[in-house]
Amino acid sequence: MNFKKALIVCLIPAFVISGCGKTTKEEANNTTNQETLAQVSGQGTGQDTEKTESSGTEASSDDESQDAEVSRDLFAMDTYMTLTAYGEHAQEAVDKAAERVEALDALLSTGDENSEVAQINQNGGGTLSEDTEYLVKRALDIYQSTNGAFDISIYPVMQLWGFTTGDFAVPSKEDLAAKLALVDAGRISLTEDNGQTSIALPEGMEIDLGGIAKGYTSSQIMQIYQDCGVTSGLVNLGGNVQALGCKTDGSKWKVAIQSPDDTEGYLGILEIENQAVITSGGYERYFEEDGVTYHHIIDPTTGYPADSGLISVTIVSDDGTLADGLSTSLFIMGEEKAAEFWREHKDEFD
Ligand code: ADP
Ligand code: MG
Repeated sequence: MNFKKALIVCLIPAFVISGCGKTTKEEANNTTNQETLAQVSGQGTGQDTEKTESSGTEASSDDESQDAEVSRDLFAMDTYMTLTAYGEHAQEAVDKAAERVEALDALLSTGDENSEVAQINQNGGGTLSEDTEYLVKRALDIYQSTNGAFDISIYPVMQLWGFTTGDFAVPSKEDLAAKLALVDAGRISLTEDNGQTSIALPEGMEIDLGGIAKGYTSSQIMQIYQDCGVTSGLVNLGGNVQALGCKTDGSKWKVAIQSPDDTEGYLGILEIENQAVITSGGYERYFEEDGVTYHHIIDPTTGYPADSGLISVTIVSDDGTLADGLSTSLFIMGEEKAAEFWREHKDEFD
């Protein structure tokens, strides 16, 4: 078996990050009522993201002091999520964020036939809501900048492999070629009329925003927290983390990057402030047939699960949507092309 690597890419150079009051080791190690580690985990096995039960919701505190924590668990977007905020506005912020998550899930879920994305797929197009317009435009930008590695029109191929239903099967070469012929996000057309944007898909094409939806969702949650007057908070969407500000003791958030092949171990611990840490890996959702593992991140040039030699890619950025799109894309590209991508684009991210 090939030795596979995990790649961690920071889109914002470390020296740009500043502002947390206390960052010394002793202070960071102090235990407070906050989690000292937001663990990037819950994705260590294929099964984790397949669960369908809701873990319910709960608020852990209604204390109104500055450090008071409010934390709520929910299941949406096929993922267990934890929303955490601190301070006197925390309860309102977490409740509004949970509502927003559910609204975005209802809008973007390809599996819900009433969602906006499912309707677009059924009808070959339609008018776009503000969220979907933003996401489609970001997705098309990422498609361009990654030379097509990130392609939201991959959905018919995802369906063929059974990743959308759990009815997994390795497709025949003919079936794969037929579906692959429908994949090319460059053929998606967007038109504007009276401030309203519409999308039109070529015959047979279907889209899926799953490769960036969670990063957008975590960015939106950060915005809601800020609008509610919260200055410290964290969201964990199935191992994808985004932080607002610092911990209430002034130290940075610590995010442990779980080792993909060792559920006990960590690849390292990142210290972040106002950033998202988003990981894509072939170990998150997969099935096995005849001893071969097939995962859910598809290389649009082959229609097969990307086999670039990377086992996971973690992106650190203040833009959650970009981090999510690029974690998927750079995983497909492999180490060399990913490094080249980073060299060519690093100025765009500052
Ligand atoms: P996850 O959502 O499981 O955390 P990713 O962010 O890497 O992981 O997204 C994987 C999802 O992206 C797949 O489930 C599928 O919906 C979609 N996808 C798969 N391959 C591609 C691709 N080449 N371009 C864009 N989206 C993709
Ligand atoms: Mg992604």
